[in-house]
Amino acid sequence: MIATGDTTVFRTVGVPIIGPGWNGIDMEVVTGAVPLPAFRFHPDAYATVFEHVTGTCDACGHHRDIRYTSSFYSAHSPDYICPWCIADGTAARVFNGEFNDAASVEGAEGDLAIHDTRVLTDAREVLEVTTRTPSYVSWQQERWLAHCGRPCAFIANIGAGGLAAFLHEPDFADDVDAGAGYGGEVVRRWLTADGDLAGYLFECLSCGAHRLHLDAG
Ligand SMILES: [Zn+2]
Ligand SMILES: [Zn+2]
Repeated sequence: MIATGDTTVFRTVGVPIIGPGWNGIDMEVVTGAVPLPAFRFHPDAYATVFEHVTGTCDACGHHRDIRYTSSFYSAHSPDYICPWCIADGTAARVFNGEFNDAASVEGAEGDLAIHDTRVLTDAREVLEVTTRTPSYVSWQQERWLAHCGRPCAFIANIGAGGLAAFLHEPDFADDVDAGAGYGGEVVRRWLTADGDLAGYLFECLSCGAHRLHLDAG
């Protein structure tokens, strides 16, 4: 533990303490380590868009051992952004950038695809998605789906084999059959978690409904 100014910083040794859901990396409990911040709109982000590399965060200047690896839209090109600087908005503020484009959030102001103002998405939560939420990796520009007037949480990539668990949900079935310009039969047969026609699973934070975004490479 080291003190820097009025902020007490806990240095971690090796891998910091993290919650369940982390894939593929041995966990090491370090006494006094600060838990990694949670991202409610991207709860499994640590499994996919962070890597363990030691370095100095370009936003906060602290020595860290975990770095963000996905999209960041800014005139600047920071090499190292730590998860704490994503969660508290520091990186977005320091570099005047966004992790997710506001126009890509379904129902947000500026979303050209919106046809129904009843689904206008909560502006404060859109801001949380754009400036304080790690993006996910997709072929083209990410799209952030919404439900119940709120941005959904991005859950995981999904292939054809995973669709059955959610097809009884009307809005999910609509996404499969007509949501993205591909025929439902094509999606049900060819969708892969990370192939040429990739699926991205979202979940509503209010009602638990699921949505599907498709992207072709
Ligand atoms: Zn930082
Ligand atoms: Zn909902």
